[in-house]
Amino acid sequence: MQIDIITIFPDFFRGPLEYGIIRRAREAGLVKIEVRDLRVHTGDRHRTVDDRPFGGGEGMVLKPEPLFACVESLNLASRGQRVQAKQSVVLLSAQGRRFDQTCATELVAMDRLVLICGRYEGVDERVGMHLADREISIGDYVLSGGEIGAAVIADTVIRLIPGAVGNEASTRQESFFVGAEVGNDGPRSTCSSGGLLDYPHYTRPADFRGMKVPEVLVNGNHEEIRRWRRRSALEKTFRNRPDLLSEAPLSAEDKDLLSEIAASHEQ
Ligand code: SAH
Repeated sequence: MQIDIITIFPDFFRGPLEYGIIRRAREAGLVKIEVRDLRVHTGDRHRTVDDRPFGGGEGMVLKPEPLFACVESLNLASRGQRVQAKQSVVLLSAQGRRFDQTCATELVAMDRLVLICGRYEGVDERVGMHLADREISIGDYVLSGGEIGAAVIADTVIRLIPGAVGNEASTRQESFFVGAEVGNDGPRSTCSSGGLLDYPHYTRPADFRGMKVPEVLVNGNHEEIRRWRRRSALEKTFRNRPDLLSEAPLSAEDKDLLSEIAASHEQ
């Protein structure tokens, strides 16, 4: 996979995508990241990328010409052919579809991803309408630029590339994992959180300043550990993200556990 990031601040990406899993994935050749300086694609002495908004109002808007020129320089398939070519041009935008793990799994199927970072008051609307294939927001808040959003998307997508995370199973058992089978089938059900939040993790020491690791995790009974993890994942989801429960595939055991949890919260 290749990810091109278009920005007026190329130096911003010195750092966020150079550590840990992402660095190793790059070194292993699983992904190539190219940061493109938008100003290279300007035609004037001042390398102007922005202009005042038509109709008046605050701030400046990123001009369409450099953005079109930059994307065109990447030799992508034509817009109508991009899905087939497994390419996607993404405009980072607070007005976009909200990014989530499902969206990340869609993007990891691409061979080429282009992330356009907006700045100022935003980007000329023609970029979203005629150049990008999709607009993505990383959450319901306004950032000062698309760079942090691009880093979030790149990080999330890259760790889903097969081989990027050392232990493949570990991306399957995390919060929001998409595509899990319904649990109740032995220890594997803890390996697939099935649209729930992840269960709590503990490591040594077993007693840290009097804060003890749950007994069940120390005693080595795999069936009890599985059940405890599933219950904890359900409980955390119930407490912090009840909205996820209506979408998550739940087994009969899960439903019983949830009734217990709901009852204990009512007390
Ligand atoms: N006036 C715009 C905000 C512009 S912020 C509005 O009200 O929607 C400048 C740039 O930051 C945007 O062009 C976009 O690229 C980026 N940005 C801001 N918030 C974002 C978000 N939640 N997700 C992704 N990108 C965002």
